[in-house]
Amino acid sequence: MGITVIGSGYVGAVTAAGFSQLGHNVVCVDVDEARVRSINGGKAPIYEPGLDGALALAVREKKLRATSDLAGALKTSGVAFICVGTPPMADGSTDLRFVREVAQGIADALRQRDSYLLIVVKSTVPPGTTESLIPLLEEKSGKRHGKDFGIAMNPEFLREGRALEDFLRPDRIVLGTADAKGLGLLQELYAQFQCPKVACNLRTAEMVKYASNAFLATKISFINEIANLCDRLGIDAYAVAEGMGHDRRIGRAFLDAGIGYGGSCFPKDVKSLVATAKREGSGMRILPAVVETNESQPLRIVGLAEKCLGGLEGRRIAVLGLAFKPDSDDVREAPALKIIAALLKKGAKVVAYDPKAMENARARLGDGVAYASSARGALEGAEACLLLTEWEEFKNLQGKDFNAMKRKLAIEGRRCLDRGRLEGVEYHGIGRGI
Ligand code: NAD
Repeated sequence: MGITVIGSGYVGAVTAAGFSQLGHNVVCVDVDEARVRSINGGKAPIYEPGLDGALALAVREKKLRATSDLAGALKTSGVAFICVGTPPMADGSTDLRFVREVAQGIADALRQRDSYLLIVVKSTVPPGTTESLIPLLEEKSGKRHGKDFGIAMNPEFLREGRALEDFLRPDRIVLGTADAKGLGLLQELYAQFQCPKVACNLRTAEMVKYASNAFLATKISFINEIANLCDRLGIDAYAVAEGMGHDRRIGRAFLDAGIGYGGSCFPKDVKSLVATAKREGSGMRILPAVVETNESQPLRIVGLAEKCLGGLEGRRIAVLGLAFKPDSDDVREAPALKIIAALLKKGAKVVAYDPKAMENARARLGDGVAYASSARGALEGAEACLLLTEWEEFKNLQGKDFNAMKRKLAIEGRRCLDRGRLEGVEYHGIGRGI
């Protein structure tokens, strides 16, 4: 099948690589010429394990190319996936500007077209958004929904760091459609995927995505509140999580206490759902509390460092991990950025290291922070080490790696250090009960 994927970020680049790997002919469209060049050169525009190789192979086999010409791309496609960003506005609601811009561009191309096109929204959009594109598309193109074009909502659940794997082997696929032909085409496209497929209407598909992210964010804020109480009571919150997690009704995932959730999805999606509820006059109490807990959680580790060191003014602090999660270079809403800002405000000197996210972090943090080229380099001369992303290489740190510190003090915002290997290192963290 000929597929156009519009937007070549984390979701678009992975969707394009995934469908081309399954044998489809894919054209990526992006307004960012650097991203277009990068993909055509067989290189991913963002860091995601395995993505460089998958894109390079697809480009070499002529299964995939990138362009900034949307109308040209659509000429060879029967399906168009919209994967552009849906950032938050100041009031928490979702900025749909990019989705609407793309819909306008598709409508212009539809006017000249005489075959059916299925337009699939993959971006995360508030319930009601996808169906609101139908009148816009009909008006601008002069074509009819259900006859000349179809519209669908197929939310994406990939996790950054495992995105390609998640695309190819998802837990489920949600197919929100509004016409029989559109549903048929999507079912054909996903026929080889061996997971449950949930067919529903457009609004339901949109809500499944928000409700899923809001639920996972709730689990994180829940365990963080339990961990904060555990700290007062001298209980290890990770032992509590293990005891809870064996219960199949609960599950162990998303019960890791720490510095809270970040990234480009959970923070904005939870706030967007709260904004939707507010607009609809539907009372919502749990999710605003989830947000509140998450906003204060990163600062707890700053308080812990301050307590351990007896003040932060002029103290050298090593920060290990900047990305919001391991195996990603994404620092959008990363708790590390908030923590570093608070450390600097209290007069600390920060030396940071991350295996992949330093460039993105530097663009946001500026020069107030020093950057080291290795974990050991960051630890040199530091009086405390804050571990903020659970990268595999940090899990392998040993006592001797901390030898060059002025004080061998490790404070975990994400629990991942192997305590057995850290002889001689003082050890603290959220939810440790100490
Ligand atoms: P991103 O910011 O990484 O990428 C968006 C891309 O769209 C950029 O390359 C941008 O240049 C491009 N773009 C913007 N306007 C365009 C236009 N008019 N035409 C063509 N390209 C245009 O975003 P992302 O992280 O891939 O997220 C995309 C959507 O998917 C969002 O709605 C997000 O909430 C959702 N989502 C993201 C993830 C994730 O883990 N990142 C997971 C599931 C869902």
